[in-house]
This record gives sequence, structure tokens and C-alpha cells, in this order.
Amino acid sequence: MGEAASLEAASPYELRVQLAEGMPEQTVREALSSGDMGFLHSFTTGSAVDGPGIRVVAWTTGCMWRCQYCHNPDTWTLTNGLPVSVTRALEELAKYRDGLRIMKGGFTLSGGEPLMQHRFAAKVLTGAKKMGIHTTIETNGFNGDKLSDAELESIDLVMLGLKTWDPARHKALTGMDVDHTVTLARRLAELRKPVWIRFVLVPGLTDDLDDLARTAEFAAGLGNVERIEVLPFHQMGRFKWQRLGLAYRLNDTTPPSAQLTEQACEVVRKAGLKAVAG
Ligand code: SF4
Repeated sequence: MGEAASLEAASPYELRVQLAEGMPEQTVREALSSGDMGFLHSFTTGSAVDGPGIRVVAWTTGCMWRCQYCHNPDTWTLTNGLPVSVTRALEELAKYRDGLRIMKGGFTLSGGEPLMQHRFAAKVLTGAKKMGIHTTIETNGFNGDKLSDAELESIDLVMLGLKTWDPARHKALTGMDVDHTVTLARRLAELRKPVWIRFVLVPGLTDDLDDLARTAEFAAGLGNVERIEVLPFHQMGRFKWQRLGLAYRLNDTTPPSAQLTEQACEVVRKAGLKAVAG
């Protein structure tokens, strides 16, 4: 345990567990409430899919949701992550500042659900913004109410995961209510904060195009949503479920066809929004 362990992972698909094992509960609680230290699954560089340009991404641990298609279930448990101080995270980020500017990229905080560590998230994003780095958060909206308007101002772009529109289907898919996401979406609209909606297209689970049309109409009505990303489901996280001894229900689910992905994009365009297939 400790900061000597490597933060860099080959990719977020690397299985990482128990990096903070043995840390006293009190220390974990203090870290969460002060935000001076966070728990990171990993830190990756050179991402072209987590916001505009080329990004450095910090993947946090901790998530209360249980999406059936989650490809990073090792991020669910907070103490699977490596304890990292805000100072160290920002020092690491500073190394990339000039390169990120040249590549019109920035820093993205993802997870897991980064707002499970909302104090740490606020400190890291505010610090990055002060360095002149473009900041993005990928969130499902859970704990969105824990960020003040001023803290939201330090985030240049919010990538908001909206998993399905129908409340009952959302609950079955994620274990949580869709209201968390919708509430943050409305607040971001009031603040005129740029948003990209992320939607994972899973055959048999989220491929009801009428449901997607309702998501797209809602998003289009907000006025601040710049695009909906249609992300085809894949099986790259299946081995993690197996290695963690978790019951995976999507063993027989295949990625959507190119035709279905295009149909989904067409639904988004029909609502008047830009569609980007991931
Ligand atoms: S919100 Fe993200 S990290 Fe959490 S279970 Fe869903 S897909 Fe996984």
C-alpha cells in the first residue's frame, strides 16, 4: 500500500484490486471528507475518447451503481484504488500541461463514479483548472448535489452518463434511480455548462429506440447538450466479473451491429442533436 505503487496502468481494463487494503477505516473516512487524498484505480495518458482532444484521465474508485454492462467492476470498491494525495495528483498532471494544450486536450476525471469522492474531485478539478488545463468529468450524476455552483464552474465539460430513460428499466439496469442523472442534467442546463451525454447501446437492454428518442428529446430540450455519444457495448470487461467472482448476466450479449448503432445515431439526430458513435 502507499504512493510508491504505480499509478500508471496500461489501460483502464487492467484489473486492479485492494491497492488500499489495510488502510484504517478512520483514515479512509477522513480522506473522503477532506478530499486531500483520493483513491485512484489508475492514471492513463493519451486518451482520445474521454473528452475533446488528447486527455490525461484519472480513474477513481467507488461506485454505488451496479450497471449490468459495467466494464470496470473493480472500480466499485473504494479501497481497490491507490491512495493518492491531491498534491501528488496535480504534480503528475502538471507534467502534461503544455502537451495537453498543444493537443487541444485536457484532464478528465472518470471512474467508477468520481463524485463518490466529491471533495477530492472538486479539489483536483479546481487545481487543474487553475493550471490552465481544460477539465472534464465523466459522471452518472450521483452526488451531483454535493458540488457547489462554484465547483461546477471549474469543470469545462461534463460527460453525463444517461443509461436509459424509463425509470423502471433504469432501476433494473443500474440498481439506481434515473433521477440522479436527470437532476444534474437540469442543473447544468441552468448553469449553461457544456454537456456531452454518454449512452451505452446494449442489444436486448438499451436498444429500445423509442426510449432513446425520449432521452434525446429531453437532452435536446436542455439547450446545453452538444452531442450524444452512442457507445456500442463490448465484452472487454467480462473477465473482471469472472475474476471478481461476480454474476455476469451478459455472457451471451453481443455488441450491437453497425446498422443498429447507426439507427440509434439517427434517433439522436432526429431530435436535433449531434450523434457520435463511440
Ligand atoms: S456507473 Fe459506471 S462504474 Fe458504476 S456500475 Fe455503472 S458503468 Fe460501472
